[in-house]
Amino acid sequence: MPFKKSLKKIQKNHQEAYQALRVIKQHYPHLKTFTHDEILRYYHVSSLGMLQTHIQRIQKRALQEHHSKQKDDVCRCQDRYGTFKYLYTSLTLLKQQQAYWYEKEKITLKSYPCPYQKGWHLTQLG
Ligand SMILES: [Zn+2]
Repeated sequence: MPFKKSLKKIQKNHQEAYQALRVIKQHYPHLKTFTHDEILRYYHVSSLGMLQTHIQRIQKRALQEHHSKQKDDVCRCQDRYGTFKYLYTSLTLLKQQQAYWYEKEKITLKSYPCPYQKGWHLTQLG
């Protein structure tokens, strides 16, 4: 039954996304007591899926660094706590996130180009 199958896939994706949250809390103790919503806000993203992409990029980069000096698609930009910043490679997605946080929480996010990679970061004003 196709419906059941897709439901299973959704559940699996859901589990993987929660795994991403666990990884984040393990690596960044200052985020340990944060709720899921607070972590999303911290990274200026609107979904667990985006957080998952972020973690995967970081893990991939860590592997590459370990093996060789290959070109990677993740920058070294960190916030003041040493947390890697989310890299937006799509301007459309970036604008969506700015709109999302403004509408949901009245948070104004400023974008700036990443000095190392082709992409942008978001930062909170004030
Ligand atoms: Zn950067």
